Amino acid sequence: MAFSDILAQDHITNHFRKTITSNHLSHAYIFTGQDGIGKTLLAKELSKAILCSEKEDDSCNSCNNCVRIENSNHPDVHWIEIEEKAKFLKIDNIRDLQHSVKLSPLESSYKIFIIKEADRMNEEASNCLLKTLEEPPTSTIIILIANSLTPVKETIKSRCQIIRFHPIPAHIIEDQLIKRFDADTSKVGWISRFSSGSMGNAFELLEDNFYEKNSDIVNRIGVSGIDNLLLAEEVIDNYLSSSETLEEKRQALRRILNCILQFYRDLLVVKIRNVYGTGKKTTPLFNADHEDTLQQCAGYLTQKQITAIINDILESIKYIDYNLNINLLVENIFTRIAMLNSSERE
Ligand SMILES: [Zn+2]
Repeated sequence: MAFSDILAQDHITNHFRKTITSNHLSHAYIFTGQDGIGKTLLAKELSKAILCSEKEDDSCNSCNNCVRIENSNHPDVHWIEIEEKAKFLKIDNIRDLQHSVKLSPLESSYKIFIIKEADRMNEEASNCLLKTLEEPPTSTIIILIANSLTPVKETIKSRCQIIRFHPIPAHIIEDQLIKRFDADTSKVGWISRFSSGSMGNAFELLEDNFYEKNSDIVNRIGVSGIDNLLLAEEVIDNYLSSSETLEEKRQALRRILNCILQFYRDLLVVKIRNVYGTGKKTTPLFNADHEDTLQQCAGYLTQKQITAIINDILESIKYIDYNLNINLLVENIFTRIAMLNSSERE
């Protein structure tokens, strides 16, 4: 791996090439952007590029420093992460950093600290980190990795340079999936569109057979006169019961609701196309290989009803993180969909 292997983040890698060469590195960064977009990978590649003994503005991947950073055993590159089963980064994790930053690098020009999930730091840990950032030690670079900036204290944000990661375009994700896996083109095409610009998300969707799950859900919803409670029960049994933790269950439900959301979004596109005859090329469909089902549903649902279902699903997605009974939430969603579907046919 090197900067050139980082996907679709040229604005960031070019910036770091320049700052490493001109010796203008900041003492603290926040890498932010959605999960699975390459933040952790870039933190590792940046550490290599800074400490590489062969290349000036990139990693060589073969010198002693690059190899040890790759294997997470370089004495001047420290990874700080949430302990297993803990919900937050705690003060003890940050105290170690506070102590270590005061010491000189053991063998390199810099000491680098990479804090994973820095948006999940409790108050005490945040305050402790703030003290270190207020008096930045020389020869130290702290990289905070955060999916969201919202939970990060303003006082921490103001002392770090914020590096924003862009979603990876679907065609790049598609190319990567084709290169690495022997999957068929409709499947890879759907996954790349559904992954919201996250490579990590795309890998998980492929591994979880989500393309097949989506087809199953679309076929079930597409059948007229759906039995809402039976459908809810099947979704719970087939897709949620294997989740071990509540967070896994929530993530699975979020994905299922997004599948349903994309189906109705496609339905809206088909409706508009049918009415205005804008042609097939204007807006791509997520479920291009289910066009028959979409046309069938578009025949009996109005735009107003489809919009109502979309709003309902969006509302339900918001409730996933609340402390609600997940099974009840699923039943409510399918009842609403069935109600809106049947009211249209009256
Ligand atoms: Zn190297």
